[in-house]
Amino acid sequence: MIDQVTVDKVLETANSQIIEVVSDYVTLRRRGINYLGNCPFHNEKTPSFTVSPHKGIFKCFGCGEGGNALNFVMKHDQLSFVDAIKYLGKKFNIEIEEEEYSPEQLKQKNERESMMVLSEYAGHFFSKNLNETDEGKSVGLGYFRSRGFRDDIIEKFQLGYSPEQRDAFTQEAQKQGYKLEYLEKTGLTVVRENYQADRFRGRVMFPIHSLAGKVIAFGGRILKNDKKTAKYLNSPESEIYHKSRVLYGIYHAKQEITRQDRCYLVEGYTDVLAFHQSGISNVVASSGTALTSDQIRLIARFTKNITIIYDGDPAGLKASLRGIDLVLAEGMNVKILLLPDGEDPDSFAKGRNEEQLTQYIEAHQQDFIKFKTSLLLEDAQNDPIKKAQLIQDIVRSISIIPDSITRSVYVKECSTLLKVDERVLMQETGKLQRKKQEEDFRRNAPRPDSSMQPRPAETAPPPEKRTPSNPLELEEREILRFLVKFGERPVNPDEDEKVTVGQYILHELRQDDLLSVNPIYNKMMDAYEAVSDKTELPALKFFVNSADPDLSRLASDLVGKEHDLSKIHHKFGIVTNAEELLPNLVPKIVMELKWKKVKTVIKEKRQQLQQMEVNGNMEGLMELMKELNTWQQVLAHISKELGGRTIV
Ligand SMILES: [Zn+2]
Repeated sequence: MIDQVTVDKVLETANSQIIEVVSDYVTLRRRGINYLGNCPFHNEKTPSFTVSPHKGIFKCFGCGEGGNALNFVMKHDQLSFVDAIKYLGKKFNIEIEEEEYSPEQLKQKNERESMMVLSEYAGHFFSKNLNETDEGKSVGLGYFRSRGFRDDIIEKFQLGYSPEQRDAFTQEAQKQGYKLEYLEKTGLTVVRENYQADRFRGRVMFPIHSLAGKVIAFGGRILKNDKKTAKYLNSPESEIYHKSRVLYGIYHAKQEITRQDRCYLVEGYTDVLAFHQSGISNVVASSGTALTSDQIRLIARFTKNITIIYDGDPAGLKASLRGIDLVLAEGMNVKILLLPDGEDPDSFAKGRNEEQLTQYIEAHQQDFIKFKTSLLLEDAQNDPIKKAQLIQDIVRSISIIPDSITRSVYVKECSTLLKVDERVLMQETGKLQRKKQEEDFRRNAPRPDSSMQPRPAETAPPPEKRTPSNPLELEEREILRFLVKFGERPVNPDEDEKVTVGQYILHELRQDDLLSVNPIYNKMMDAYEAVSDKTELPALKFFVNSADPDLSRLASDLVGKEHDLSKIHHKFGIVTNAEELLPNLVPKIVMELKWKKVKTVIKEKRQQLQQMEVNGNMEGLMELMKELNTWQQVLAHISKELGGRTIV
């Protein structure tokens, strides 16, 4: 836990130097008072990603992504709030003081951290062994070189070698002060009653990195031709390593996956290395396990497009079809690339440069229906029973897809490809879906976590959540925009008693109990209320630096679209500098909101009135008419203030 003072300090520093923060990831060019670059969150050729050093915010006009410096690193590196603060603190040399943990938290944290530190050390140990010892050089390095891996790839992935000697690592680690407890918990050492031994011996080592780039486990490949030992050995499950939730190479791939909006999925460690060596880095492997839903959701954080690359071995192929269904079930788009006979991704990538590889993949990747059909149709062509099975099989896969439009597209394709009536296929998918729903219902299975759903498509509205039916949306946003932009300025500088824009807005809305149906809008008001007497605090800075991502995001969104002259301004024909007009504008936008609010209330009351007439509720009718009359007077009053608006 980081204390609030430190958080504030980091935020303020980072936002005031947002250009430096973003420049670590994006090449920015100056354009007027802002900076422009290619958006790292969606794939684009012409830059629409804008950073404002004065406001301390970024905004992409292509995909809608926006926020402050903290939001940027959180989103870009998929960091937690705390990790992002730590990262920025380090960058700007701000010491992060952490608050006390409870003894229980401390124990858990210490344990995890100790295991992480040990894993990191083990990584160094193995890599040093590979590069500096005779055994490592001749056996380990010799192996990687014979497989054609370049030194930069060996270094990038921290490849290593574990010596033959039974406890070389365990001994050295203990000598360095690492406790046997953690050696055992990470699985690096196998502890028996009367002896300890290294788990990995005489193997080339592949460190497995977490999403944040920390070493959390290892895969080791044996080089001797020993029938008794498994070729590949992995670290066991531990507090820091959950096989089913980790993908090999994700740390080195995540940025490029986002940029390319596609992830290649291969099988083994060396496949990943070979792709990197060819210049393609949006690639991961599900090493050590069959593909899991958690692994797919991990990819879904960066893209919804997966290409699974299979080698041409038919035996392996049919077993891997399950993976395709899992990807479909997560609502992802899946393509399949089948490599030519006798090639695996490793051998295939080695013979090609980036361009050739990309071209081949693009030309040969197929959707799953074409893939399954081409895989199975050959035996099924002249066998009606087998053909029926194939159709059933494909229909089952289609019925897994959560999105109905995607489903119908595939039904159409399947119909054309297999020459089956579309309606029949539609009926079949429908049947399977209902069956599945019933099963889910019976099992009372929780619905899939919506936060794990793939990112909205490029065409979707900006990620900021909007309440769907808010009749006051426009007016409320306008008021909040003034609050963010001018909150600390006096409404009327000529008056003796200087009320700020923020204070005025708060007072006006609070006295009439005007709450929004949008909880984030209310949160913004509440947050400002707490600081509204600090007139020296610029509201924009306050909101943009807010540790609450809802608020910083909304604030950047509100001030990010200044050129889009709001409809309200338009009504008044105002095109000049808004600041000079604060004494007029602020009361006016508040009045606009009230006017719209009263209109909405009157509309509701009229509907109630009609209902009462229908029901013949005479008493209620009289009551309501009185009420309605009062509201009409209020509306007339407001209309007059607004300069004689006709009442409709
Ligand atoms: Zn973008």
